Formats: sequence, structure tokens, C-alpha cells
Amino acid sequence: MADKIPTRIYLSEEEMPKFWYNLRADMKEKPDPILHPGTLKPVTPEDLAPVFCRELIKQELDDTTRLIPIPDGIQEFYGAFRPSPLIRAYYLEKILDTPAEIYYKFEGTNTSGSHKLNSAAAQAYYAKEEGLTSLTTETGAGQWGTALAMACGFYDLALTVYMVKVSSEQKPYRKALMEAYGARLIPSPSNTTEAGKKILAKDPDTGGSLGCAISEAVETAVKTDKCRYVLGSVLNHVLLHQSVIGLETKTALDKYGIKPDIIIGCAGGGSNLGGLIAPFMGEKLAGKSNARFIAVEPASCPSFTRGRYAYDFGDTAQTTPLIRMMTIGSGYIPSPNHAGGLRFHGMSSIMSKLYKDGYLEARSEVQTEVFDAAIKFMKAEGILPAPESSHAIKGAIDEALICKKTGEKKVILFGLSGTGFMDMTAYMAYNNKTMSDHIPSDEELQKGFASLPDIPQNR
Ligand SMILES: *Cc1c(COP(=O)(O)O)cnc(C)c1O
Repeated sequence: MADKIPTRIYLSEEEMPKFWYNLRADMKEKPDPILHPGTLKPVTPEDLAPVFCRELIKQELDDTTRLIPIPDGIQEFYGAFRPSPLIRAYYLEKILDTPAEIYYKFEGTNTSGSHKLNSAAAQAYYAKEEGLTSLTTETGAGQWGTALAMACGFYDLALTVYMVKVSSEQKPYRKALMEAYGARLIPSPSNTTEAGKKILAKDPDTGGSLGCAISEAVETAVKTDKCRYVLGSVLNHVLLHQSVIGLETKTALDKYGIKPDIIIGCAGGGSNLGGLIAPFMGEKLAGKSNARFIAVEPASCPSFTRGRYAYDFGDTAQTTPLIRMMTIGSGYIPSPNHAGGLRFHGMSSIMSKLYKDGYLEARSEVQTEVFDAAIKFMKAEGILPAPESSHAIKGAIDEALICKKTGEKKVILFGLSGTGFMDMTAYMAYNNKTMSDHIPSDEELQKGFASLPDIPQNR
């Protein structure tokens, strides 16, 4: 009999990744180029320079370099909170009574609570190297803002965070944590920017949206000296940094000769999913693997499952470059739900392209069922999952139950992107049975599609 696989598989410092993996280099069909919204030509580094850090622009536009070295300064910060554990879900397998083997990569052990610190660390490091003194960003559920506040604290950069208003009201502890790390918090929409004022004039009672907070953060970055804007998901360079998740996972599994059959991630903008699957998808694209890949998104914000593959803006004010992606339209403001980190209207162009080309599957789930899965998981495994991550748990449990029926002994791997400690209002709503499920009607979605830019590429 083979040795029992340990519950937690650890990597040594030597085994930790020294390079990020750029999946685009191995895609024969590349994602479509990012377009300048005025000229509709592919953006140049100069176009992006007023908004983004130099090195990040280089990474954003690089679709040929496979391996990009992780600078020592970032490896040092990674060393403070990585590797994150890869865990064999023995107890979940037991209560599901499934022949499947289930593994999950847990990114919630750092204080900010999620995988977002992997990219926040990198982005803050490059900003500091470039001589910038401050950064701006937006945050929805608050995980990105917290991760970036932590990174800016470490690298000594000032940070302004535009936080979606409903979230800032729902999550006072998030706000306090970001402020403790030194960030300045502004509920969005606000009257500190032209974009915010415009939105407030139209809809004074709006709870805000990620798209709207992005408009405000970009505007402030462009107007402020030695300041740039940073984003926590969707963009190519963010997925690149997140590849550290998949690289660590693959090294850990390879030590025991384990090959996942099904890999599952929750999808908001696609960064934890993209990071987890990157090296495995690389093998699939090379014809060396038959693994299936599944994205799980909320039914209330169904970018993959009900969206269109189109060029769209990243923000509500329609100021960002155009990205070709699965989107429900930048004008769509999803109903408030408890997976705030999954409320973005679009999806990474890399993940969108793989979905479009049939390499990636997607499904959507309603939040009460996602929380049923979360509760089952936490009772068995002892870990309190983030509402976002619980979408991946739901996907993994469903696949494990299919194995129970068919008797197949598949290896299921999923990404547990964060902890739920800052999301207790969501668990309270679940416990009190006041949580409801909103599935947008086709008419509601139509409003979002109507906001797609009317350009030749979209016709
Ligand atoms: C932000 C967030 C997500 C969604 O973002 P992606 O870019 O799709 O990964 C998922 N899980 C957690 C815990 C998050 O904080």
C-alpha cells in the first residue's frame, strides 16, 4: 500500500517558487489585446503610464515570457506568509462518503485573510522601487484593500482606498483593519472625485459598485503626483502574481505523484482561479493532461454563465482601457450579496479566452446553497471559509457526490481563497435565515448589455 498522504503537505523554503508562471506564453491562441478606448488600437505602455506602475505595465503586456523571476524583495515578504498549506480534506471526504480524494490550497492564513496579498505584495514592491510615494485602489468586500494596506504598511507607501459604500457599512472591522495598517478609507461613491459626484447626482442613495469605486481611484491616481492606481484582480499581471498559488500546489502534489482530475476555483475577476489553475492548464494546453477546470461564480453576478464575450470597460464611468472578456456589462450593478469579492461585472481576459475556447467550464450557484456547503465544510475541516471561497467548496462537494454515485476515485483540487473571519454578518444572515437568493432576470441583465461599448469589435 502506498504511504498515507499527510493531511497537510508542506514545502521547504528551497521548494518555494522563484519565478511566476505566465500562462499566456503557452496559449497558442492569445487573449485579444487591450484596446485604447479612444483610438480602439492596442494600448501601448505609454498609454498606461499615467495610471499604472512601469514594471506592472511590462508584465501586463507580455504574452511571451513564460517564467518571470520573483524579485528577492518580494520573496522576502512572501516568506512571511507563504507557503500556504495544501490540505487533504480527509474529514470532508469522510462525511460525504465519497471515493474521491479532495485537496484544497488554503490562502487565508495571512492576517489580511486572502490570496490577494500575493499580488498586493508584488504591486507595492514595484511601486516603491519606482520611487512612488502613494497608491490608490478600490475595494469591494474589503479583502483587496486590506491586503494592499498590509503591503503598503510593509513597504512604507501611503494608500487611499475607495470602498464600495454597502461593504463599508456592512464591514466596519475591515475598515478598522485597513486604517490600522495606515490606509485612508473613503466610502464610494464619494464627492472627492468628479466620477463620484456624477454618480451621486444621478443616484444619491446608491450603495456603490466596484466599477464606480474604480473610476474614483483611477481619477485620484492620475491627479496626484507620484501616485499610481493598482487593481487586485482581472488584469494579466495580477494573474501572473497569483500563479504562485498553483506553482506551490503543483510542487506539493508532485512530491506524492498526485495528478488532479478536476480543479475548481471561485471566480470574481478570475485571479485566484487563474493562479491556481495556471501550471495545470499549461500542461493541458501542451496535451499532457486531461484535467477538467471549473469556475464557480455567484448566480447574482453571472459573468461567465450568462455574460457575453465582448470588449468592455473595467469601470462604470467608462474611462478604463477596453478588455475583451466575459462580461455582463460595466453598467450592471449586481444586487448586494454576501460574496462581495465576486461582484465584478467582468472576468480576466485570460480566463475568458480559455472559457470561450472550451478549456474551462463554469457554473453559477445561489448563496444559500453556497453557505450550506460552507457549513458542511467547516464542520468537517474546522476552517471558516470566506463566502467567496465557499463557491469553490460547493463545486468540489458536488463533484465528490457525483463520484459517490459513479464510484469513480477522482482527485479533486479546489482553491480555498480566504478566511471568513471578517464576514460574520454573512454567517449571521445565514444563521437567522434572512439570507435570500437573487437571480437577475434576463431584463435586468439586458440593462448591463446595453452599456457595452458600441464598437466594430463588438458587432
Ligand atoms: C477577492 C476574492 C475573490 C475573488 O477574486 P478573484 O480575482 O476572482 O480571485 C475570491 N475569494 C476571496 C477570498 C477574495 O477575497
